[in-house]
Amino acid sequence: MKITCDITQDLLPLYADGVCSSDSREAVEAHLSYCTKCRDMLKLLKNESEETALARETDSVIMDQRKKQNRRAFTVGAVISGILLIPVLVCLIVNLAVAQALDWFFIVLASLALTASVTALPLFVYKHRFTVTVCAFTLTLMLLLMTVCIYVGGDWFFVAAAGSLFGLTAVCLPIVLADMPQIGALKRHKALICFAADTLLYGVLILFVGLYINADNRFWGIVLPLSAIYIPVAWVIFLLLRYCRLNGLIKGGILTVGLSAASFFSNFLINRLIVKFGFESRPEYESIQPFYPLTWNEATVNQNIQWLILISGLAVGMVLLIVGITRMLKRK
Ligand SMILES: [Zn+2]
Repeated sequence: MKITCDITQDLLPLYADGVCSSDSREAVEAHLSYCTKCRDMLKLLKNESEETALARETDSVIMDQRKKQNRRAFTVGAVISGILLIPVLVCLIVNLAVAQALDWFFIVLASLALTASVTALPLFVYKHRFTVTVCAFTLTLMLLLMTVCIYVGGDWFFVAAAGSLFGLTAVCLPIVLADMPQIGALKRHKALICFAADTLLYGVLILFVGLYINADNRFWGIVLPLSAIYIPVAWVIFLLLRYCRLNGLIKGGILTVGLSAASFFSNFLINRLIVKFGFESRPEYESIQPFYPLTWNEATVNQNIQWLILISGLAVGMVLLIVGITRMLKRK
């Protein structure tokens, strides 16, 4: 019986799996004996089914391996938790026996909770391991600081907590945000969220440090003007790099010019503040000092270097700007 290519190709999957009737098989084989197109189809079909079978097998091996690894991690985590519980029990008994109450026991408890958050906990978590670990570490660290602070009757908890949170946020928040499900503003504005959180925590830290040391005008007189200038500078740099659509050379040029000028004038600003609040009585610091390119001695070396940084920064920045702008114009 002669059959067409269409019928053959309908039958090919059944033929390849060896499940078609003997009549169909004979018809297909007769067709394949003279039709190269259908023979190629059969070859392709066989390769594909081999590939999918192989892929399925690989997947199941990986899954098995992962399950095995998870089980092993779970066991190790359970052992570590058990080991950490021993000192907890010992300290509970000793503290009760010695003081007839629990006081320093809570410090031991909080420290071991902190240890567990980075040793045992990650072994129990399979999804978002970094985020869960960082959150648990931060929480138990706060708990430990608070326990110790209460035990020694200190009033430094908020300074210590704000400092730790600021540091942890600056380092870990970018990784945590990248690890979260990317929905809404997270998808495009992770850096913005990090920068806003860092700025906020910087403000909180400065506030608590000021309150803790009962800061006078000298503290606020230095901290507030400098923060009022440098926080916006940091924001301008960030916004320029992240959201500005200019080419890299122009961005680099703007930053080089801006930052070399900022470094020159910030030195002047800091000197003024230092003189104004009486940390040093050197009135010559209060004004911008002249450039003596030909006189290099102890009195001029500082200001000469600052002038050189300013001049070379401006020169390099201008070159970058000019090259960048010409390239941009050419492209248009
Ligand atoms: Zn054919």
